[in-house]
Amino acid sequence: MNAKAEAFTNNPEDTKSSEYYQEQYEQSFAEKWDELINWEARAQSEGRFFIDLLKERGKTKILDVAAGTGFHSIRLIEEGFDVTTVDGSPEMLAQAFRNGRNRGHILSTIQADWRSLNKSVDGKYDAVICLGNSFTHLFSERARRKTLAEFYAALRHDGILILDQRNYDRILDEGFSTKHKYYYAGKDVSAEPESISDELTRFKYTFPDGSVHYLNMFPLRKDYTRRLMTEVGFQYIETYGDFKEESPDGEKPDFYIHVAEKQ
Ligand code: SAM
Repeated sequence: MNAKAEAFTNNPEDTKSSEYYQEQYEQSFAEKWDELINWEARAQSEGRFFIDLLKERGKTKILDVAAGTGFHSIRLIEEGFDVTTVDGSPEMLAQAFRNGRNRGHILSTIQADWRSLNKSVDGKYDAVICLGNSFTHLFSERARRKTLAEFYAALRHDGILILDQRNYDRILDEGFSTKHKYYYAGKDVSAEPESISDELTRFKYTFPDGSVHYLNMFPLRKDYTRRLMTEVGFQYIETYGDFKEESPDGEKPDFYIHVAEKQ
């Protein structure tokens, strides 16, 4: 781990900044991310949820704003969608491009921070997707509002935003437990919170080679995220739990997926 990253992990309280994703997703972590997120297992657990949702609504022009190493961009390209791949981290974007090329695709990539997205991204999209628990990397309400406003502005008049998040309500209210079924499907990688507070959740990722990486996250409560979306102008928001409508038996999901409609 380099000195900068080490300093970062030693001072969690100093790192509640929306700028920190740049350091959190440094080169070594960009490479590890694909180990963490086993693509095959993830594709299986996610199924065709996002693909079917977009197809049913006739959305074809997609802006993947938190592309990471490209999992969703590539899956959607392979399903015939017209995808633009965005991330604020050059390391993650470079890894996404390599992953695309290895599968025979040339990704259309743009490096942009969400808070000034429309400075770099032209045109209007049918759907903006912000997946993989990414919105959690913003540590001020101002940054969250600005980001949602930028996502809103990048959409056509009838566009949709699909944004997912961990079920932090459960983590904050009951402590952490997970079925480890969704997303973090790399079976040899452990992901567990090291500290939990209303302002900062700090996850520790331990990889099979013994290396350890930390990610700081803002614990978004479900209704808070929904409220912010409404306040920036989204008209209707549907929230799914673990790729299903809210479970009737009251089982609490690991992840929520919000689908917010502009009109
Ligand atoms: N969506 C991918 C996935 O599910 O595998 C990657 C998710 S990763 C948790 C979060 C991504 O969001 C990182 O690649 C990070 O660089 C990006 N990110 C975080 N904050 C950002 C910001 N303010 N602007 C642009 N990208 C940001």
